Amino acid sequence: TAIPCKRALLSVSDKAGLVDLGRALAERGVELLSTGGSAKALREAGLEVRDVNDLTGFPEMMDGRVKTLHPKVHGGLLALRDAHADDMEAHGIEPIDLLVVNLYPFEATVASGADEVTCIENIDIGGPAMIRAGAKNVGFTCVITDPEDYDALLAELEANDGATTLPFRKRQSARAYGRTAAYDTAVSTWMARFEETPRRVAAAALLRQELRYGENPHQAAAFYADGSDRPGVATAVQHQGKALSYNNINDTDAAVELVAEFDGPTVAIIKHANPCGVASGATLAEAYGRAFDCDRTSAFGGIVALNGTLDAETARAIAEIFTEVVIAPDATEEARAVFAAKKNLRLLTTGRLPDPAAPRRAMKQVAGGWLVQDHDTGTLSASDLKVATKRTPSDAEMRDMMFAWRVAKHVKSNAIVYAKDGATVGIGAGQMSRLDSSRIAARKAADMAEALGLPDSAAAGSVVASDAFFPFADGLMAAAEAGATAVIQPGGSMRDDEVIAAADEAGLAMVLTGQRHFRH
Ligand code: 5GP
Repeated sequence: TAIPCKRALLSVSDKAGLVDLGRALAERGVELLSTGGSAKALREAGLEVRDVNDLTGFPEMMDGRVKTLHPKVHGGLLALRDAHADDMEAHGIEPIDLLVVNLYPFEATVASGADEVTCIENIDIGGPAMIRAGAKNVGFTCVITDPEDYDALLAELEANDGATTLPFRKRQSARAYGRTAAYDTAVSTWMARFEETPRRVAAAALLRQELRYGENPHQAAAFYADGSDRPGVATAVQHQGKALSYNNINDTDAAVELVAEFDGPTVAIIKHANPCGVASGATLAEAYGRAFDCDRTSAFGGIVALNGTLDAETARAIAEIFTEVVIAPDATEEARAVFAAKKNLRLLTTGRLPDPAAPRRAMKQVAGGWLVQDHDTGTLSASDLKVATKRTPSDAEMRDMMFAWRVAKHVKSNAIVYAKDGATVGIGAGQMSRLDSSRIAARKAADMAEALGLPDSAAAGSVVASDAFFPFADGLMAAAEAGATAVIQPGGSMRDDEVIAAADEAGLAMVLTGQRHFRH
């Protein structure tokens, strides 16, 4: 079942890694067949290449619409080397052992807002036909549809004396059909606009990306879109960097949903789906700097979301440390150039920000079923707040409380968020007791002060938000001790009177929202 790789057909739109692959194959004595642009790139690198035209006896024609659609190509990909030997002999068909194809960038063309004619011209015909042919002939033909798999292919050839094994070809065939399925789904979703009664694609989960693995390497995983055009991680355009992982996608989603809550320039840095710093500023660069200051240690390897166009100054600041993903509605040419040198950084643009108030459903799987609920679209305006204490908050405290409350909505419960001047200064997330989250947030504020060389805890003069009510006064007292001067929380505890009395005792101003934001 090991098939020696003697002849390869390379036809790729994304030329990344093509020359290195071509060279490695040529060094193994593999004959290279190729189409126009791919052949040119290989030849310019000094490699010997045979044109597909030469094989078929036809030129590429109709602006590239017909290049490889020919029995010499499809016969070479589909032939069973044993059962079809006579046909091959009779028609002069040579076997093609390896097919390397990636498709016209239809999805990216649509996402760029290109006109209808351009989108249609970017529907690849010959590429998917070859991929499906080669992937069907899994006993003989190996198909590669993703530059990320070039290294694995070369390792396979190295380990098997220049041959591919059946398990490897099977895996590649599965990926190949995954790719053509996703591609045609993208085309059909886009073409639904031509139908008289627009079809709801809701039931159909659309394969967006096969993932290397899930939350952990032993978990298989994939990424599906829901067919809506809601801006976010599922509809974003990726400009550079390797494919996103499961955890990246999860964190990027948390990041973009958070910054979409804010109007002025705001940046969030996310780790493990929780923010480790969120800040607003006069500019995005200022906002990023302040978000970074909140927890410089945790920000390393984080996901950064911005609610405005990424500019070069902000890009330079982000590029100073290792960052996994940056997502923004858009990015300037200059900002993109700053990131171009950072091969591992992924830049995603969403076009617009998602509307946090747009109704939708959230689903979670439990053993034997699903939990379905309305997405948390709860928002708050200052007029919804009830002042519970003797002291009324100042305007500055009020602004910071609204800021902290919005952030707390996006922090895993129990959530405690300290904020000052439109920036978080301490976040406590995901604890089983509210008191523990309060202590952690206060501790983070002290760490921040130490890291920045501040004389007092960064929580001094801050406000604090709690995603649900304080069941006892202890959590509130921890906040007061840390230096918070004002508190925003839902209220509604059996012991509200006790909690309010403790706040009055400590001279705090406290407002009640009447609405909570659990997030699990
Ligand atoms: P190249 O840059 O080598 O000229 O073209 C490579 C691209 O052409 C690949 O994306 C491949 O999928 C696509 N392709 C190969 N054969 C055909 C064909 O017969 N028709 C169309 N429309 N595209 C093809």
